[in-house]
Amino acid sequence: LHYPVLDKRGEVINTAVTNLDLHDLARLARTYGLRAYYVIQPLELQRRLVQRLSSYWMQGKGGEYNLTRKQAFESMRVTASFDEAVEGIEKEAGQRPRVVATTAKKLKGSIGFSAAKEMMKSGGAWLLLFGTGWGVDPEFIERSADYVLDPIDIGSGYNHLSVRTAAAIILDRLECGRDG
Ligand code: SAM
Repeated sequence: LHYPVLDKRGEVINTAVTNLDLHDLARLARTYGLRAYYVIQPLELQRRLVQRLSSYWMQGKGGEYNLTRKQAFESMRVTASFDEAVEGIEKEAGQRPRVVATTAKKLKGSIGFSAAKEMMKSGGAWLLLFGTGWGVDPEFIERSADYVLDPIDIGSGYNHLSVRTAAAIILDRLECGRDG
């Protein structure tokens, strides 16, 4: 999610996309068998940039050169808003997703990884929401998320992860019943 997220001063902003995130999150989504990875970006020029990047790796020379990158980008969708992403999932999955927000800060009422994993096992469509910048606007989380996941915090006194790393750890924890 690139909007609404916070900046350093706690103000709501729209962030720019990061090329590295697109590649790494697309590969992660594909590896963990997610149905789709949504890049939510209200700025049209930024969305066009994402489309251009992904089409380079999906078609023509890029696609021929690196097949696994092409396969990863196939799971990527680009939308202008969160609501559009929810609608897209509803169309693809045939049901409205329940939204689980992630954050590095502990929010009131957040749930643990085991509880989230159990809920997800019971089926249905799920949208795991990750922020950029200084994280998703907490008011937006309050309005839009059904659940908030506990932060990754192993007690070292530091837990400021990149979105790529946080997403990888979270997906692994939610899928960690699997071997291999
Ligand atoms: N300070 C921000 C926060 O409170 O979420 C960190 C923003 S980080 C650059 C971008 C995203 O990565 C966050 O919005 C969240 O989705 C995820 N993230 C980063 N660290 C995390 C952690 N320790 N636990 C859970 N998610 C984390």
